[in-house]
Amino acid sequence: MIPGLDIKHVVVEEGAAEHGFGRRILDRLPPGLAQRADPGPGRSGAKDTLYLLPHQGAFLKPCPGTREYICCGYQILHVGTDCPLGCSYCILQSYLSKPGLRVFSNLEEGVDRALRTVDSSPQQIFRVGTGEFTDSLALDPLTGWSGLLVPKFSVRKNAVLELKTKTDRINELLRLPFRDRIVVSWSLNSPHVAAREEHGAPSVRKRLQAASRCQREGFVVGFHFDPLICHPQWREGYQRTLELLDRYIKPQRVIWISLGSLRFMPELKVLIRRRHPGSRILDGEFIKGLDGKMRYFRPIRAGLYAFLAGNLRKWHANPGLYLCMESDEVWREGLEVVPPGRVFDRGGEDRVAQIRDEFGPARAADQVQTGLTGGSVALLVVARGAAAHQVLPA
Ligand code: SF4
Repeated sequence: MIPGLDIKHVVVEEGAAEHGFGRRILDRLPPGLAQRADPGPGRSGAKDTLYLLPHQGAFLKPCPGTREYICCGYQILHVGTDCPLGCSYCILQSYLSKPGLRVFSNLEEGVDRALRTVDSSPQQIFRVGTGEFTDSLALDPLTGWSGLLVPKFSVRKNAVLELKTKTDRINELLRLPFRDRIVVSWSLNSPHVAAREEHGAPSVRKRLQAASRCQREGFVVGFHFDPLICHPQWREGYQRTLELLDRYIKPQRVIWISLGSLRFMPELKVLIRRRHPGSRILDGEFIKGLDGKMRYFRPIRAGLYAFLAGNLRKWHANPGLYLCMESDEVWREGLEVVPPGRVFDRGGEDRVAQIRDEFGPARAADQVQTGLTGGSVALLVVARGAAAHQVLPA
């Protein structure tokens, strides 16, 4: 067994051991765990088996945002697929053609190729994340993803790397001496949803304690209230999470907070009912959006956003809010702002200026401590204040 992870089998696919990153993972495994044959080819999606394999496609891809809704211009760095947690609402259950934990052995070569793309476009800002097709840190004690990625991204002037997680697996990350241009972010929900629907994930309090430790150790952090779910006494539930947020986190060092409501492709409904019979997330009424996904009715979504946004703005005047996959109308009703084009926070420049003012101009000795050097402030001004593809200020 791997400490902290419930992985019983590691299937080493052809070519995986030819890559340095793959070999380092194999070196970390307890003896006897790696094998060539799949122990249960019929157990599609089993979370106790990890497949180590070379990835054949591109490693850096634009987030599959939808033309019909406002997109934040995110780029996904493809490090692996699926994650050891078992959230009932996880869209990966219906999205992945090959379910199961997959970790890419040729990540190092893939990242170097992706970074050549980043370096060849110095005028473009790349907001990159690894948490779309997996959890960025859930497998970090085994994969060492953070140890590979953080040193490479932290020294780039035109990229911000976001590591998005629901876990408290931050030890590998904290051991690294890099903070610049790295955002560590947590998905949050009400304690009720976390306990009932996010199987295997630490409590909201534990996530926030991990975030607090990252803040204290110099990382800029972010949060994602996504998916917001209507459930009995949802206001009280989300209020409780906001109280915990206030207890553990300094709002001045939060770079962005996204809000998104439950959405899913219709085919996911069948899988949720079959795999998570105790789930209540399908209670209530949904409509099909312009992108084919099922969503709550617009006034319900706007009400969820308005409640969270109102309370978050009491916590800090500009908490870096943006909505994920919503229309102009919902931005206006829920956040009371209209974003121009592909942006995610009109107040971003003010917010970053506040962070800079509160923590002072960067000095060499501050760089690790604050995580915000002049360069990264400039980057984040662009990343938060306008399109992710905008020209970096000289
Ligand atoms: S943490 Fe994310 S990737 Fe993992 S099961 Fe939950 S929703 Fe899916």
